[in-house]
Amino acid sequence: MSGKDKYDVIVVGAGVAGLYASYYLGSMGWKVALVESKPMHKIGERVCGDAIGTHHFEELGLSVPGDVIDHKYKGVMIISPSGGHSIIVPGGGVSINRLKFGQWLLRQALDHNIELLDQHVVLDVELRENRVSAIKVKKVNGETKLIEAEAIIDASGYKPAVRSKLPPEWPISEKPYVTDYNIAYREVIQLNEKLEEVDYAKIFIDVNIAPGGYWWLFPKNSSGTMVNVGLGVINNGHYNPRLQYEKHLRYRFNGGVINAGGGVVPTRRPICTLVWSNVATIGDAAYTVNPVHGGGIGSSLLSAHVVAKHMNSALETGRVNEHALWQANVDYMYAYGGKQASLDVLRMYMQKLSNEDYEWIMENKIVDGSSIYDLGVKGDLAERVTYAISALIKLLGRPSLLSELRTVRSYMNKARELYTQRYPRKPEDIFVWRTMVDQMFTEYIQRIGFTRGSLVKW
Ligand SMILES: Cc1cc2nc3c(=O)[nH]c(=O)nc-3n(C[C@H](O)[C@H](O)[C@H](O)COP(=O)(O)OP(=O)(O)OC[C@H]3O[C@@H](n4cnc5c(N)ncnc54)[C@H](O)[C@@H]3O)c2cc1C
Repeated sequence: MSGKDKYDVIVVGAGVAGLYASYYLGSMGWKVALVESKPMHKIGERVCGDAIGTHHFEELGLSVPGDVIDHKYKGVMIISPSGGHSIIVPGGGVSINRLKFGQWLLRQALDHNIELLDQHVVLDVELRENRVSAIKVKKVNGETKLIEAEAIIDASGYKPAVRSKLPPEWPISEKPYVTDYNIAYREVIQLNEKLEEVDYAKIFIDVNIAPGGYWWLFPKNSSGTMVNVGLGVINNGHYNPRLQYEKHLRYRFNGGVINAGGGVVPTRRPICTLVWSNVATIGDAAYTVNPVHGGGIGSSLLSAHVVAKHMNSALETGRVNEHALWQANVDYMYAYGGKQASLDVLRMYMQKLSNEDYEWIMENKIVDGSSIYDLGVKGDLAERVTYAISALIKLLGRPSLLSELRTVRSYMNKARELYTQRYPRKPEDIFVWRTMVDQMFTEYIQRIGFTRGSLVKW
């Protein structure tokens, strides 16, 4: 093993979250090492649906160059199981070229003198006096070395390379349940026959094709010849997304497959704390994905922004610990985590609905595009939705659905409140708060009869 290199911050993982955090901290003048297992020219490559609402870029003031954008959407179209009903959710979005986006973010970071350790895999962490004092990395086909830093940011995706190795009593080492993940498969296809309609990113609900998720058709160019098609299913051990794709989707899209692959999406509420000791976590490693639609690019960037901002202040004071970093939690929970917690409640309920339920909801226009937009933006199952349901169900005789939806709505509100107004204002209160959250979710899943399975093994 060779000697130690010393940095202000080590960022692990050069996905969107790690790239953005490195860029931000580099631009503040800190000495940053960005550790990534991929070679530099592959940074950005990612199995993804590639779709993102443009508001995410606007909120962060990111002027993404034109060549990163493959295609523009007017909104999202959600289609019922029979195909007979659809809802349009308004809101501008784009299909991005993930490789180009990653390479663009990387250039911004390198322009601010961050040091890229590409083709380096994080193997382990070294602890000293309740802090991570160093990280053990191995160059692909090469040497192993220790690198040291004041602070570590774990941005290594759904299977976190750093926080999975921390002591279990550190709350940042929280593990998810197996069903907190969706597993997905997708292909980018050059079609033989072009699509007629390219203005909307289409989401198809059909529990036979995508149990506990949905399948998607996202056009990737304006001529309708290139698409991103895929599906996600709940990770409960019963379904294989690749096999579901072969059975239900392959025959519908004839053409040349440009890229194919599977991936894992953490579709749950955020980790209980994004910071502990001198470690922070962001992006998929911190479970920042939207639990209902599975979009995680925008919220990964947001979490990176929030954490990097507070990390900068902590480094300035020369004291990086959970106290100095705590406000990052409060800010993130208010900006996005509260909504995620509320949508996690809805997600579990939705994963229990049948095609008949979905068909009925869409046929009777229980939800419309603007309610779904509100749900997406605020995580609120709007008053008017439950009101409309209450009127209709009395007419149509589905009182059990009404009572279930009332339950879901009340737990959605409780979850949002726990993650915002009632989120601890100091680190020592996290343990009591975490127990309250666990109790609330345990009670909820018992009430709706949801089976969440075991904790994942790392
Ligand atoms: C099939 C699929 C479709 C999706 N569709 C969409 C979509 O349409 N829109 C959307 O917004 N989101 C979508 N998502 C989610 C989105 O892709 C992620 O939320 C987002 O890319 C997460 O970024 P990240 O930087 O947190 O993590 P990642 O992109 O996972 O980056 C982590 C990085 O860490 C590196 N790494 C991991 N372990 C180590 C280690 N031990 N040592 C060194 N490096 C390591 C990895 O190589 C990787 O580069 C989708 C996800 C999947 C799987």
